[in-house]
Amino acid sequence: MTTSEAEAVNHEQQQYSFKAEIKQLLDILVHSLYKEREIFLRELISNASDALTRLQFEMLTDHEIVDPKAELAIHISTQKPEEGEEVDHWLIIKDSGLGLTADEMRDNLGVIAQSGAREFLQKIKKQNGEGPAANGSMGDVIGQFGVGFYSVFMAAEEVRVISRSYRPEAESAAWISDGGETYRIEPAAKTDRGTEIHIKLRADAQEFADEWHIRQVIRKHSDFVGYPIYVGEEQANQQQSLWRKQPANVTEEEYKGFYQQMTLDFEPPLSTVHFTSDAPLNIRAMLFIPAKREKTMFAKRTEPGVMLYSKNVLIDEYCPDLLPKWLSFVDGVVDSEDLPLNVSRESVQNTRIMRQLGKTVRKRVMRELDKMADAEDEAEQEKFAQFWEQYGRFFKEGVATDFEARDEILPRLRFFTSKSAGELVTLDSYIGRMAEGQNDIYYVLGDDLASVANSPHLDPFKARDLEVLYLVDAFDAFMAPALQGYKEKSFKNVDDGSLELPELAEEEGEDTAVDTPTLSSESFTQLVERVKEVLGERVEDVRASKILRGSPTRLVSPENSPNTAVSRLQRYIDQEYEIPKRILELNDKHPLVVNLAQLNEAAAADAHQQETVELIVEQMFASALVQEGLHPNPTEMLPRIERLMAMATKPAG
Ligand code: ADP
Ligand code: MG
Repeated sequence: MTTSEAEAVNHEQQQYSFKAEIKQLLDILVHSLYKEREIFLRELISNASDALTRLQFEMLTDHEIVDPKAELAIHISTQKPEEGEEVDHWLIIKDSGLGLTADEMRDNLGVIAQSGAREFLQKIKKQNGEGPAANGSMGDVIGQFGVGFYSVFMAAEEVRVISRSYRPEAESAAWISDGGETYRIEPAAKTDRGTEIHIKLRADAQEFADEWHIRQVIRKHSDFVGYPIYVGEEQANQQQSLWRKQPANVTEEEYKGFYQQMTLDFEPPLSTVHFTSDAPLNIRAMLFIPAKREKTMFAKRTEPGVMLYSKNVLIDEYCPDLLPKWLSFVDGVVDSEDLPLNVSRESVQNTRIMRQLGKTVRKRVMRELDKMADAEDEAEQEKFAQFWEQYGRFFKEGVATDFEARDEILPRLRFFTSKSAGELVTLDSYIGRMAEGQNDIYYVLGDDLASVANSPHLDPFKARDLEVLYLVDAFDAFMAPALQGYKEKSFKNVDDGSLELPELAEEEGEDTAVDTPTLSSESFTQLVERVKEVLGERVEDVRASKILRGSPTRLVSPENSPNTAVSRLQRYIDQEYEIPKRILELNDKHPLVVNLAQLNEAAAADAHQQETVELIVEQMFASALVQEGLHPNPTEMLPRIERLMAMATKPAG
């Protein structure tokens, strides 16, 4: 930016027009919103607080600063007429932050800086066509947004921003507007560092010249701002950073208030972890698990990562490296005096202190989760169930991507199983129920609980009374390939063709065959050949099954083939998904297979019947794919099923 002298002269009393979107925002703010008008104060205080924080940063590296000793604070004062006096009501908000030059005023107070304000506009446009919001209905919403500086015009007839930048060579300037089409910038005479916002209150907003009212609003919206806010002589906010208090001295209400001021979340947090310690590491941490994974559009903290403070100074608003990605839903504040202040935000990330802090925080969070999960009382268990529903996928992703974390995550996973009766259970409880001599943890992959419960792969497990984990969501498929072992047991997919299961008692095997017609091995072999012919390259092999009982077919993974879990995952994410090649196993005791073999034998010379056999083979294969969650498009089956039904309903003769 060039500020030659000629331009500086030009800046005397320079008039500018607001950009179109600001005009629109102003129009809405000025004409339509009254209900939550007080939030303008929150916005101005938050800007003042930002300016103070940014100044603190500058002070760490830059020693040439105007008023280096001035207190970092916000001062609010009012002017109102004495009885009978005919003067205006004024509200003045003053901070000793880093201030603005004339150029910065033009750049920062002439555009919509905050994405929240833009979102707000878009939402209003959607709801009301092109016109601005008609009334208070938007007022309920606006309080949730950071609409920023311009919200001042909900209460102001005129606004003067008078500022002196912290840079010694800068000149002070004033920005003046009545919230109409234009604003002007002119030189000012302010000599102390920071910004003053002089608000001439509208006739219908004069309560903001009342100090008592201002204090109420501060308590409600800005109580935890990290700098003192003086109203008149007295400090109006609690200010003490809540996380620096001893946990025993903080109430549930305060946690909730702090969380909601911090995030603008409507709901209270699902869980709060607050702890302080001085050795071996100085740490003050207040962490929250939000009730919901998805952020609403009104949310204030949208990026992952906790806020990192050192000695009460905000070093990083979002520090994603303190906790692993699979805990990135944790929000809150971590403050440590051991963090060096005089370093850039980037270089703080990889220090030994950061790793230690991360480890400590992570342990506490895990401990809290365990406490919730193991609690006797129902409310806590309910909370854990909610936690798992919202964040279980983070843990699954952690198993898949963070090898080092597996030992930590595996015992905390939850599964439905063939024996858990609709409850979620841990691996430890599965292991506790294992049959004698069972060395593997079995799992079945599928699209939902109902279909895996009927999976043909479960036949031999049901027969042997072995429990099977149900892996039924996309994140399970993502995790499954990474499931290797737990407590010296290996994980085994039930579709693994090479699985060895204990032999079944002989008589039981005979039982099922009682009322099925026997099938000669010759006609079964013929059927196998026929099926191979029909399916061709689409299957790796066709063979008799040793283990199927209630189901006619199943698909098993050939050895060394990519795991079913991987294929399933590809189906979720890939456009160009190819059906993986499997071995098709036929149950030679199942009526369908027996009948089909006989039909096949009898139909050798009959072209029409041959077609029927082919259709049935195709449908058996398609059904098996659906059962495996491998079918790219099950609706393709419908015309074939209709043809088969037409055949079956054709009158005999
Ligand atoms: P945001 O706070 O999200 O940036 P605002 O509309 O609230 O958006 O503020 C716009 C910009 O105006 C700020 O980014 C900042 O650059 C500037 N600003 C506002 N108030 C102050 C202040 N008190 N001191 C210094 N700069 C300020
Ligand atoms: Mg702001």
